[in-house]
Amino acid sequence: MQGPETDSEAKDTNRSSDAAEPPASRRGFLKAGMGTMAAFAAMGGVLEPLRGLKDRPSLSQFLQQHYTRLTPEMMERVLERTKQEIARDYGAEVDVKDYKPMTGVEFAYALNLGRCNGLRRCVYACMKENNIPLDHPEMAYIRVLEMDIDSLDLEQGDVLYTTDPAPKEGKYYMPIQCNQCRKPPCTKVCPVQATWTEPDGVTVVDYNWCIGCRYCMAGCPYEARRFNWTKPAFRPEEINPEMSYLGNRIRLRGVVEKCHFCLQRTRQGKNPACVEACPTGSRIFGNVLDPDGKIQFILKHKRVYILKADAGTIPRFYYFFDV
Ligand code: SF4
Repeated sequence: MQGPETDSEAKDTNRSSDAAEPPASRRGFLKAGMGTMAAFAAMGGVLEPLRGLKDRPSLSQFLQQHYTRLTPEMMERVLERTKQEIARDYGAEVDVKDYKPMTGVEFAYALNLGRCNGLRRCVYACMKENNIPLDHPEMAYIRVLEMDIDSLDLEQGDVLYTTDPAPKEGKYYMPIQCNQCRKPPCTKVCPVQATWTEPDGVTVVDYNWCIGCRYCMAGCPYEARRFNWTKPAFRPEEINPEMSYLGNRIRLRGVVEKCHFCLQRTRQGKNPACVEACPTGSRIFGNVLDPDGKIQFILKHKRVYILKADAGTIPRFYYFFDV
C-alpha cells in the first residue's frame, strides 16, 4: 500500500501561472479559522456543508499534497488511487490522466449569438462529457438564457424556458459558462489556493484540496461555479470513462466545480464537447495566440462583446453577431 504524500516528499513543480505561492495547508487554514470565536462563528456558516459527511475522505486523500506540489511519482499514485476509488464506488473501469497545458497555446472561445437556436444541445453534451448527472440540471456548467430581442439585461433572461418550440419569435439565446477570465476574482478569494489559472488560460480546481467554503462562487460575477451538495450518482454505463484529473473526473461531495474548457479533450487538440454538439456552428474555440487562427479572425473582423466588462475580469470568452 502506498503511503500518503507528505510535505517532505513534495517538490514545487511550478506548473501553474498563479499558484506560484505555496498553497496554504487545509489543516492549517481550518486551525487558524478556529483561533478566535469571531473567526469560528464566520467559518461555521461556510463550512456547514462539510459537517456530517458520510463519505469521509480516506487518510491518503486527506493528506494528499496540493496538485502543484505533486511530483510525477506522487501523481502516478494519485491517479491510480482515483481509478480504484471510482471502480469501487461506481463499478466503472475508467482511465484518469493528468493532461498538461500545451506550449504556445492560450485557449479562447467565441460564440455567435445570431446563430444560437436555444436547443441546449451544448448543455447536454457538456453534462455527458464532464460526468455531470443529467438529473441535476442545476449542476450544468452552461446556462442558456432566453432573452427578449431588445434586451441586454441578463437579470431578465429566462433560464427555465421550454424548447418546444425553440427558437421563439422575438427572442434570442445567451449561453453563459465560465469565462476563463484573465483576472479571475474566484481564484483570488480562495483561502487555500485550491483554484488557479493554468498557462493555457484554463482556470482549474484541485477537487482534493478544495475545502468547500464557496468563496469562489461568491467571487464569480458570472455564476459559473457549482457546489456538490451530494455525492454524484451514476450508473456505470452513464460515466464517461476518459477522465482528466483537473477536469471531468467524478467530483467529491462538498467541493466546487466549473467549466474547464473540456481540458481532457482540448489538451489533446480536440474541440470541447459543446462545440462538437452545436448544430448551428455558433460555438468557436481555438488558440488565441495563433495569428491565423479562428479566434484571431473573429477578433479582427467582428464586433465582439464581453459580459460584465465593468467587473474587470477580462474574459477569454467573446460574443459576437454575424452582422
Ligand atoms: Fe472564475 Fe467566474 Fe471568471 Fe470562471 S467566469 S474564471 S469561475 S470569475
